[in-house]
Parts: sequence; structure tokens; C-alpha cells
Amino acid sequence: MQKLYKYLLAFSAALIIALGGYVYYVVTFETGLVSVTGFVNDYTQKLEADFITSITNICQNLSQKTKIHLIVVMVQNTKPYDTGVYAARLLKNYDEAHPDIDGAIIMLINLDKGTVNMEILPRIQFMFPLSYGEKILNESVIPILNEADKAARELIAGGKSRDGANEFIGRAILEGVRAISQKITDEYAKQKFTDEMIKQKKAAEDGARVKWSFSLWFYLGMALCAVLIYVIFKVRMRIRCPKCYYKLKINEETIEVPEKEKPGLTIEVIQCNHCGYYDMKRIVTYERGFYFGHLYEVIKDVVKSYYRKKKREYRKQKYDE
Ligand SMILES: [Zn+2]
Repeated sequence: MQKLYKYLLAFSAALIIALGGYVYYVVTFETGLVSVTGFVNDYTQKLEADFITSITNICQNLSQKTKIHLIVVMVQNTKPYDTGVYAARLLKNYDEAHPDIDGAIIMLINLDKGTVNMEILPRIQFMFPLSYGEKILNESVIPILNEADKAARELIAGGKSRDGANEFIGRAILEGVRAISQKITDEYAKQKFTDEMIKQKKAAEDGARVKWSFSLWFYLGMALCAVLIYVIFKVRMRIRCPKCYYKLKINEETIEVPEKEKPGLTIEVIQCNHCGYYDMKRIVTYERGFYFGHLYEVIKDVVKSYYRKKKREYRKQKYDE
């Protein structure tokens, strides 16, 4: 029992130490950061007012155009944190505090270490990759900051204040901000153009679809096609054996040649060589030129022969049964 008690005590102590450590870590981590208010945050008093205004204007324009915030933070040091971790933490906090923005970039200048860090929210890295940010730092920012260092060393060697070199720092940041803003604006315009193209294309496709599905001509065309297919089917079926669907042999035999006042008679002999199906049709014929004058007779005969045929089929059916 005593052993278990010791065990529990050790466990509780470990838990309390771990929890305490975590709370300490969180609190110091959050409180150890400078607060970010606005686009330019200079905690070193090295940036001249003119530069602050110019840089702020560029960032302001960028945020209005693209909803992407570019934040400049200048600190003497990031103790006790690594500059990169510090910048990442600043960016994460900024993003959480501004839910309405599309993206954010932080440029952090650590004066004591003489380093510049850029942190970009992952969700905008498709249009502004980290590699491009580093390119801007290497080409536009760091060379001018090196000049600032050189100038400061010369000033100090000459027994003067190093504040004369501050202009170089302002210029370096301004150049960097300008280049970042330009790239993002360009990419944003491209993105907008692409979106617009996709929208236009989709609208055109939708329009075409609506036109087709609601056009009267479409339905008329469909009806015509259906009728045509039906007629072709009927005609094909007529020359096919009704029992085995093989091709029928059709012979016409004239029994009586039509004369002026007397219609002629033709027998149509239908036979299937495959199954032996056999049928005969009586066809009343008329002399050429006779048709229009005796159209009534013709129609009457057609109707009569139709019913005669039906009757014959009916009888045949009865007989089969
Ligand atoms: Zn047949």
C-alpha cells in the first residue's frame, strides 16, 4: 500500500511539473512577443517618419487591392527566441486576430543579429512562394542593409553616432516592401483574370445549354427524327418476313391491265425462302392520268382492300386456333 502511495505521489508531481512548464511556456511565448498594430511596427526608433509613411501607403494599397496584409516588424532582438520562430509566431497571431484577411506576410528585422526574416501564410504561397520572398530579400533588401552596416561602422569609427546610417535601413525595407507588393499585385491580377475567364466560359456554356434545352426547334427536330426512324423501321419491316425476319421475295403479277373505264388488277406475291411464309395482296391499278379524276374510287379501293386484308388475317388467326 505504501508503495502505491509513493507511486501516486511521484506521478502527481510529474504531472504538476509538466503542466506548470506548459503554462509557463505558453504565457512567456505569447507575452514575449511585441504587439503588432498597423503595417509598420518599429520598436527600434530607427525608421524615419518619411519611410514609415511611404511603406505604410504601399501596404495600405496592397491590402485594399488584394486583402493581403504585409506587415513590417523591426525589433532590437527576439530574445529568447530564434528570429524565425518569433516571426512565425507573430504571423500566426496576426492571422488569428484578423479573420477577414485573405493572407498575411511578415517581414521581421532583428537589428542585434542583423537578420531579416520573411514568413508567409501557407495558403497564399501558391501565388507568392517563400522562395520568391527570399529572392526579394537577397536582391532588394539585404544589399542595402549591408550598406547600412558599412555606413554605421564608418560613422562609429569617425566618432559619430550611427544614426546617420538609419536612412539605409529605411530604404532597404521600402525596396523590399515595394517588390513584394508588386509581385503580389501582379499575381493577384493574373488570378483575377483567370477567375474571370473561367466565369465567362462557364456562363457561355450555361447559356448554350439553356438555349438548346428550351428551344422549340430542338423539340421539333427530335419529333421529326422520331417520325423518320419510325418510317424507316416500318419500310424495313415491310420487306422483312413477319415470322422469321428474313428478307422477303416480292413479285408483282399483272392479272388485268387497266383501261380507260376499267381498273386493272395486280397480285403481289410475297414469299419467304427461309421459313416458307407466303402471302398475296390484291392491288387495284389504274391507267396513267386516271388517278386525279378518280381519286375517290382509289381511296375507296385502298380502304376496302385494307379491311379485306384485316378480315383475312382475322379468319386465318381463328383458323390457326
Ligand atoms: Zn420467313
